[in-house]
Amino acid sequence: MVLVNTLAVERALGRTREPPRTASEREAALDPALTDWRTRTVDAGGAGGGPLDTARLAEAAVALRAVFQDGPDAGVAELNDLLVRHAAVPNLHGEPPVLAFHPPGADLAGAMTADAGTALAMVIGVGQGERLSACEAAGCDLVFFDVTRNASRRFCGLPCQNRAKAAAYRARRTTRTP
Ligand SMILES: [Zn+2]
Repeated sequence: MVLVNTLAVERALGRTREPPRTASEREAALDPALTDWRTRTVDAGGAGGGPLDTARLAEAAVALRAVFQDGPDAGVAELNDLLVRHAAVPNLHGEPPVLAFHPPGADLAGAMTADAGTALAMVIGVGQGERLSACEAAGCDLVFFDVTRNASRRFCGLPCQNRAKAAAYRARRTTRTP
């Protein structure tokens, strides 16, 4: 989700925005999630260190965005492709062993993609795919995981909910006024 919202969303909260384009911009935008990921995968011995291939990560973010935007059913084929491409497979690594879903020695971008893709696949696989949602407000493509009891959340947050409400109110007034 952080990957998608940071690297693959061009409209947020009613404004267009340029996703980060250079490697250093992308790395800065992804922190602190990136630092956390490095600690848990590279430092634990589960993924190769070295520079992060941010271009490949941005491509993966676009693919993962489809799962949120097109609905879980439409996104399944693309998600399966992504899991195969990144050789996502459950395995234990490190000491003490931690469960991960990228092959041992995967580079950081590959490891992040395999782990994120697996997380989405598990959500869909237990019948909760409808909770992977994209904001319905105009001018906002942010994605989120809907934790409401009946999976009824429509907006990324209060600002978008308020904007959408105001727009609906204006639309009602316009249709009522001759
Ligand atoms: Zn929104």
